[in-house]
Amino acid sequence: MTTATDPDHWRKKYFDSLDKLESEKLQFRAIETALKRLVGRLCTAAIGLAPQLDQQIRNLQALIRREATAEELERLTPALTEAIGALDPPIGAAPGAAHEPIDTAHEATVEDSRLRPILITLLAELRRDGELAQQVDTLESKLAGPLSSAQLPDVLALLTELVGQRIQRIEGAKQEIESLLSHMVGKLDEIGKFVAEQHHSQSQSQANSDTLNTQLVGEIKAMGETVESSGDLQQIRQQVRRRLDTIDRHLQEFRQREATFVAANRARSEQMRSRIFELEAEAKRLHTQLQDERRLSTIDALTRIPNRLAYEKRIEEELHRWRRFKQPTCLAVWDVDHFKRINDTYGHRAGDRVLQVVAECFAGRIRNTDFVARYGGEEFVMILPGTQLADATQLSEKMRLAIAEIGFHFRGSPVSITVSSGVTALLPEDSAEVAFDRADQALYRAKQSGRNRCVTA
Ligand code: GH3
Ligand code: MG
Ligand code: MG
Repeated sequence: MTTATDPDHWRKKYFDSLDKLESEKLQFRAIETALKRLVGRLCTAAIGLAPQLDQQIRNLQALIRREATAEELERLTPALTEAIGALDPPIGAAPGAAHEPIDTAHEATVEDSRLRPILITLLAELRRDGELAQQVDTLESKLAGPLSSAQLPDVLALLTELVGQRIQRIEGAKQEIESLLSHMVGKLDEIGKFVAEQHHSQSQSQANSDTLNTQLVGEIKAMGETVESSGDLQQIRQQVRRRLDTIDRHLQEFRQREATFVAANRARSEQMRSRIFELEAEAKRLHTQLQDERRLSTIDALTRIPNRLAYEKRIEEELHRWRRFKQPTCLAVWDVDHFKRINDTYGHRAGDRVLQVVAECFAGRIRNTDFVARYGGEEFVMILPGTQLADATQLSEKMRLAIAEIGFHFRGSPVSITVSSGVTALLPEDSAEVAFDRADQALYRAKQSGRNRCVTA
């Protein structure tokens, strides 16, 4: 947020205005103290004029000493006025009486040169409160001319009351500002919390937060302008209240938007969840199916010729047929020579390519009734039904030569690939394993005797 919308900035502004009120209050306390001191002096000066007045003066002194309220002072005023009145010569009394030295002395005390400036300052302060203007006017008109001793208690009592009222009002305004401020701080905290909570949310929510933020920035800015342009506390109060109401409304709208958004989101995620469940189930089913198919598949994925599983099925069938028809049948087991070297020298992909070409060559050269499978790795197996061992050996030799003549090229150089085989004829007592082992042993001998050859068992 920018400085203009920083809640701390406005908090500071309101605390400053509270400080101002506080200092005004102190100023009034000072004036009140000065006034009390003045009253004390006047009391001392007036003591001894008459016993009745003395009594009232002592009451007044007691009240002043213990911080009496305006009402208490007010209550004392009639008795004091009466006591002072009793000092004045009644209207129509003997001429000399008005010039009694005691009255002259009293008038002089009232016109003490220090009294008037204090009273004037006090009134100027009080005038700042519009509500007191009329009473201040009355007092000022009383002070326009010379102040008689009879007027003094009234003037002081009224002044004291006005000061009391002013202090009370300042206190009231201060409390109101304080409650307004705490209300506002609460709202700003709430806003801060909301915005923070939404900060990491999704884009729709972000848009909601942005809208709220824009609205709040506007309201807070307007609030700031009100405070700056208006000097009247009442006006500020009204404006701030109105702004807070608007902020409240924005917050409610925001909550509503959020609630709608959350509900829509929940429905969407429910839908997504069930869709994911469906997809997971489907994937699982496909996976199992794929595994089954792989297991059941009889075709080797690399060479596209039948695999070992297919061979195992086929050899059982051929054994069965052989036992039944006694037709000679041969088995040839093949293995690529030094195949590991090809992988190690030219890479696994080159090795794969060799396996593919060799398989293609085998498959392309056998008869329709023959069968070839990739047994595993670089090993192949052939079933040759209706073939005598001698023919099978001849056929194997042709195969071996054909493969040896394939011109393999890796990295630009010709590479010779050869194969070896072990050939055997099925025997009456053979099982698939026994027949295979016999052919495999022949193959082992072919390897032992130098590779690139066919050995008959
Ligand atoms: P030998 O002449 O004695 O048969 O030697 P060789 O290197 O051919 O035999 P060996 O059994 O030591 O190595 C066979 C190699 O075949 C090892 C293995 O990594 C590789 N191989 C098995 N299956 C595959 C395959 O599908 N692709 C490739 N590129 N290599 C395979
Ligand atoms: Mg091998
Ligand atoms: Mg090998």
